[in-house]
Amino acid sequence: MKMKRIGVLTSGGDSPGMNAAIRSVTRYAVYKGIEVMGIYNGFEGLIKSDFARFTHRSVSNIISRGGTILKTARCKEFTTTEGRSKAKDSLEKHGIDGLVVIGGNGSYRGAHIFGNEFKIPCIGVPATIDNDIEETDATIGSDTAVNTALHAIDNIRDTATSLERIFIVEVMGRESGFIAKQVGLGGGAEDIIIPEMNYDLEMMCEDINKGHNRGKISWIIIVAEGAAKSRKIAKEITKKTGFNVRLVVLGHIQRGGSPTAFDRILATRLGAAAVSLLADGQADKAVGIKADKINVVDFKVAIQEKKEADIELYKLLRILT
Ligand code: ATP
Repeated sequence: MKMKRIGVLTSGGDSPGMNAAIRSVTRYAVYKGIEVMGIYNGFEGLIKSDFARFTHRSVSNIISRGGTILKTARCKEFTTTEGRSKAKDSLEKHGIDGLVVIGGNGSYRGAHIFGNEFKIPCIGVPATIDNDIEETDATIGSDTAVNTALHAIDNIRDTATSLERIFIVEVMGRESGFIAKQVGLGGGAEDIIIPEMNYDLEMMCEDINKGHNRGKISWIIIVAEGAAKSRKIAKEITKKTGFNVRLVVLGHIQRGGSPTAFDRILATRLGAAAVSLLADGQADKAVGIKADKINVVDFKVAIQEKKEADIELYKLLRILT
């Protein structure tokens, strides 16, 4: 059966580059002779038929914009059969034959269940700042988030080296240490605390004291938000070393901003690849990038397990400190 009309939605946490993906999905579908419905507010909009017909022009001038013009949501109702059944009715009513779901792990899980339950072809496009989806080297938004956090850390380094100070910088990552690890390496941080690894505060404080005796005057320690309570870490370090410890929580600035060239290009390639799969009659798949080639896997593979933190990179960070 030829795909006549597809829907596109963004779901879960927003990430920079989602707009570039929406643009690519829409325009590639138009090129393939497929109509597009934009679905607002993720799965919630799917349940409520919060749809708008998208044309080539609907996505003009969004490639450089952060956030998502379709908005995003976390939707409890979609985790129930009743909720998903309403979503199916919405799609039927609007003649939508397939879906492109742009989001993270949770969104993939939802799309996988929904697609199999009602035989609706769904294709996932990975977009999350945490880069924690399997079988893709990168997810849309993670490069931008890392660069935004890195920029902030460079600024902190300037002030840290002017006065003898220890900075604890909390970055995003509830279950993933990806941002912390990348900015730790890229920003030359002294240490990182990430959910995938245990940390030893005693040893950290010993290092600080030893460094101080050698004449070292500044430290930056990156903490992923899900790894530890950064305020408590700051207090403990002050207690154990007697140094002035400042805490900086970068928070939501990491989610915003114009996507980097890398994220825009990734989103553009993956959006088109997702439409291509739907047009070829494929379903229940996730697109990704591996060694700069488009990689297609079953949803269940993409969601099966969390990416491991790269311990070798952590060792390198510590050697270079
Ligand atoms: P991020 O990684 O950026 O947080 P995400 O896609 O993982 O993005 P979630 O909040 O985990 O974000 O999931 C988004 C939505 O997907 C949920 O609000 C819910 O509607 C749907 N979803 C998640 N898990 C399931 C599930 N097991 N069954 C059905 N729907 C689900």
